[in-house]
Amino acid sequence: MAVSGPLVSIQRLTKRYGSVTAVWRADLDIEEGDFWVIFGPNGAGKTTLLRMVAQLAQPSEGSIHFREEDGGRGRVGYVSHQSLLYNELSGFENLFFFARLYGMDDPEDRARDQLKRMDLEWAGDLAARGYSSGMRQRLTLARALIHEPQLLLLDEPYAGLDQHGSRLLTEVLEKLKAEGRTVLLITHNLAQGLAVSNRLAVMSRGRIVYRGGREEVSETNFESLYFELVKGGMGDGRLT
Ligand code: ATP
Repeated sequence: MAVSGPLVSIQRLTKRYGSVTAVWRADLDIEEGDFWVIFGPNGAGKTTLLRMVAQLAQPSEGSIHFREEDGGRGRVGYVSHQSLLYNELSGFENLFFFARLYGMDDPEDRARDQLKRMDLEWAGDLAARGYSSGMRQRLTLARALIHEPQLLLLDEPYAGLDQHGSRLLTEVLEKLKAEGRTVLLITHNLAQGLAVSNRLAVMSRGRIVYRGGREEVSETNFESLYFELVKGGMGDGRLT
């Protein structure tokens, strides 16, 4: 049977914390192979949106619909500020552990494949506690991908990385994009987000105030557009 429609459809998603509306009526269709980057200043509601998609926060209103059944393995891989790694275990053991946890048939091969993809093969037997920030971030990414989720969610993955670590992460993310993985990444760093996206959106004060294809904007005109959109809080860019 042919599948149709977006992989994930987010409709009128709203989250209130008391009198604070963190996210207000967010609509987003995520197609298979999309690499969405959502930009926005601090407090725009990006993390709250991501947490709802990851089912870590309950929406106040609205819905998130996944097109496909997940076969019990979890639809999303989520990389947040917490790495969820075990410091005493080696890189390989961490991934092996999560592969077993997800009930993968071939946990050892999975762990080795992921280490290779993240350019961490050489560090597989070292304890995670000795990893640099960049290595930890790539190991965390490997952990989030170990069960082949339909959607990968990344919350500020560049945070705390130096130039070298950022470059390696960009290479890994570009690889994921080339493989056709579906990704939703949030950041307030325009240059890094633009480098890896193929779809982009802007959030301001809980609303998605812009969305479009990466090819529709140059780095320079997106920067002015972004500041225009977030300046007054809500912006009145096209769409929405
Ligand atoms: P940042 O880049 O600073 O992480 P963000 O765009 O991810 O910002 P959120 O963390 O989603 O923004 O926060 C959006 C709004 O919701 C903020 O006003 C924040 O204070 C509020 N908020 C988020 N989580 C909670 C919570 N658990 N309880 C109360 N208010 C919250």
